[in-house]
Amino acid sequence: MSRKVYLVGAGPGDPELLTLKAARLLASAQVVLYDALVSREVLAMISRNAELIDVGKRAGKKLLTQDEINSLLVNYANENNIVIRLKGGDPLLFGRAGEEIEALRRARVDFEIVPGITAAVGAAAGAKISLTDRRVASQVLFTTFSRGETGNWLNWAAVTPETTIAIYMPGTHYGEVADRLVENGLSPKTPCVVVSQATRAEQQIRWSNIAALSSEAQLPAPSIVLVGRVASQTVDEWRARVDLGAFESSATSELRLEERQKN
Ligand code: SAH
Repeated sequence: MSRKVYLVGAGPGDPELLTLKAARLLASAQVVLYDALVSREVLAMISRNAELIDVGKRAGKKLLTQDEINSLLVNYANENNIVIRLKGGDPLLFGRAGEEIEALRRARVDFEIVPGITAAVGAAAGAKISLTDRRVASQVLFTTFSRGETGNWLNWAAVTPETTIAIYMPGTHYGEVADRLVENGLSPKTPCVVVSQATRAEQQIRWSNIAALSSEAQLPAPSIVLVGRVASQTVDEWRARVDLGAFESSATSELRLEERQKN
């Protein structure tokens, strides 16, 4: 067998949510570099003969830098047949896969990507809500509250009342998330749900709305916030249209006013 690196999605936690391909690869790997988010149950599916390397970040303390992880991947690939880079959820969402792909390409190492169920999808399943809904939600935004290394705030200007927003890494202050959502024109009445440890035995679900989010107690990490008209146990089309629609038009006119004042 030729040497190869697999970037594999471990899903949100429940090992039954792994793809068959991920399970097969984990059972035959020589080396597995895994993140802190990968659940114990998934780690238990790795071959006993495999070398396990924890490259995760815990409580903000980086065990390894991204450059070190990239070099490890390339070096292990040169020595072993099957090297797995195992990431929580899906490897292509907030997983820094772009940098690893670049390093592997540059080193001319053959690689393959095995998708996984991302946290937003696992959380929606846990909360039993639909991320899109032809009545109230026409698009989904996968975003993060984390400011990243550049310190830049993310631009949520693309958000409309028909957008379901999945906020990864919501941080420790939901209040900041709520402020940013309102600043970006969303009604404080917009429903939201916090899902902690989605698909795991410890899963917790907190139904809320943007206005009440800041006073919600912090749920254990990892948690994700889903925001939008779908993030409620009763998607009431009529009420959603009237309550949020009224806000939407006043927010839009305020924006227009600001635009005019600037010009
Ligand atoms: N690649 C991952 C995301 C990594 S970023 C994916 O596709 O899911 C890490 C963030 O993902 C966490 O801060 C949290 O917001 C979210 N997350 C990951 N696993 C989760 C889980 N089981 N429940 C809730 N949120 C989760």
